[in-house]
Amino acid sequence: MAEKICTCRKKEARVHVIFVGGTIGMIRNENGDLVCVPNIFCKRLTEYPTCNDQSYKAENFIALPMLPDMPYRVLYDVVEFNPLLDSSCMGMGDWQKIAKEVAIKMCSYDGFVILHGTDTLAYTASALAFMLENLNKPVVVTGAQISIFDPRSDGRDNFLGSLLIASNFNIPEVMVFFGNKLLRGCRTTKVNADSFHALDSPNLPALGKMNVKIEINSRQIFRPCTVNKFSLFCNLEENVGMIRIYPGITVATLKESLKEPIKGVVLQTYGAGNFPADREELLDELREAVLREVIIVNVTQCSAGMVSSAYASGSVLSEIGVISGHDMTQEAAFTKLAYVLGKPEWDLVNKKKVLVLSLRGELTTNKVPKINDIDLIEGVARTLHMSTSLEKEQMCSTFYPALVAAAVTQGDTQKMADLQQYGADLCDRNEDGRTALHLACYLGKLNCVCYLISAGCPLNVQDRFNRTPLHEAIDTDNHDVILALLKNGAKLCDPPLVQAELLRALTERGKVKRLESFRLAGADVTLADRTGRTALHYACQLGIHEAVEYLLPYYKNPLLKDELGMSPMDYAKAANHEHIVTLLRFKENERRNQDPCACPK
Ligand code: ASP
Repeated sequence: MAEKICTCRKKEARVHVIFVGGTIGMIRNENGDLVCVPNIFCKRLTEYPTCNDQSYKAENFIALPMLPDMPYRVLYDVVEFNPLLDSSCMGMGDWQKIAKEVAIKMCSYDGFVILHGTDTLAYTASALAFMLENLNKPVVVTGAQISIFDPRSDGRDNFLGSLLIASNFNIPEVMVFFGNKLLRGCRTTKVNADSFHALDSPNLPALGKMNVKIEINSRQIFRPCTVNKFSLFCNLEENVGMIRIYPGITVATLKESLKEPIKGVVLQTYGAGNFPADREELLDELREAVLREVIIVNVTQCSAGMVSSAYASGSVLSEIGVISGHDMTQEAAFTKLAYVLGKPEWDLVNKKKVLVLSLRGELTTNKVPKINDIDLIEGVARTLHMSTSLEKEQMCSTFYPALVAAAVTQGDTQKMADLQQYGADLCDRNEDGRTALHLACYLGKLNCVCYLISAGCPLNVQDRFNRTPLHEAIDTDNHDVILALLKNGAKLCDPPLVQAELLRALTERGKVKRLESFRLAGADVTLADRTGRTALHYACQLGIHEAVEYLLPYYKNPLLKDELGMSPMDYAKAANHEHIVTLLRFKENERRNQDPCACPK
């Protein structure tokens, strides 16, 4: 029994239709040939009662007839590409044009329908899936094997079905609606040149089916783990290519396809990702390209299934650095590669990491881009980087110093570089005014110290206890670090009296190694304190033999007197430190016999 149609005014949903070209909107000329005629599609559409309810008035929009089981009345308008395109003539520039049109109108519509030729529809849908970042509205791409305007047509069903999905379902994905099936855009591929089921997603069940009822498989909908603001990314890398392996492929062919300026290649291999592993000369070409930092992604030539390392002929590729494309379609792998390579903020390591993750549900993996996908430090940094919340700045200033500190503790300069790319300021100070350089110096992580210095970290920055990175290196006797700091301009900036105090304290405790660290950092070990006494005075008075031995070579005049008129010798004698008196005498004799201007090294 037919359902009763309610004629009362329903809530409305607005859909923006972008007519790019293709069979779906073609018109037959007098010879019966299908041709693209500009500026006629929308007008002709309004002549079809199934596409236009003339009784419903909506300014600047065409209304679809009311449908009983749809909560929203569909209103749509159409913008047409000039010129209309056969999709086999399309390229990245056209994807950018479509993506920009969607992005510009994002706030004014509830959903989008893109009418497109079927030949490269799967490429466009895949590219849009990556370019429309943090999409929160449906974008449905469709086409047809027979024009909407032919008496017998799959185009009308595809068009009307797409309008319904874009208006009445909250599916925040780029999808393909074709032959009554709703498919994830970045999973589709053209599977048939003649059938009304020309597009399919062989490695993923349909997101929905339109039979008598519309059934949406809501568990299959891809929902990202972050709720970030929609953004458009158009900077696709053009220098990506595809290489299909075939029996007898020559080295010259492979070499040509991998040569500069190519930056990434989708390698279409046999079966489960297998390559002619006995052809060492072919492997050498791949190896050489990987060394040149060309990213190679391995996908299967089969229409379904995935690459695996089940066979030696497949695992040889991963051994030389070729990345597994899992079960990605060639279209998804190609457009993802262009997208990932176009990201300036990701370095090569991150690009490779991201390629094996599921960004839009384009591959089957339980690894999703969230904390722990790369490691905790990087995961937090990525989340902070992607965050659009108002507290972002506050969160960054809280977390980044801690993340940088964790990377320094691990001595991992690569991680520090990653953090920098995510927006961390390596020169940031924590609440105690301490920097990553303080920590690196304290821990003696020379590689991190050098990295931070080259990243421009200030060398003489003082924390709230007036301590500089140099103090940290002195206190842990990291002589290599001290020298690296000095070489780059670090200075011991404590006033002489403070230095003298410290020398006294170190001497009294017999800390000879620390005295040497202090000296290396620029301290004058002969400095006198307020009482005119030097470290040597104290060492002699207290009988600290090793300290006297260490200090003596730096004293041109070991007989210098303090404010009470006492020399180190006087103190040693008064305290009956015979061995020190002997040492001082020996030194004095030596001094007399030597050039009086000679100073210790
Ligand atoms: N060559 C046409 C195109 O891809 C075929 C089609 O529309 O299906 O634009």
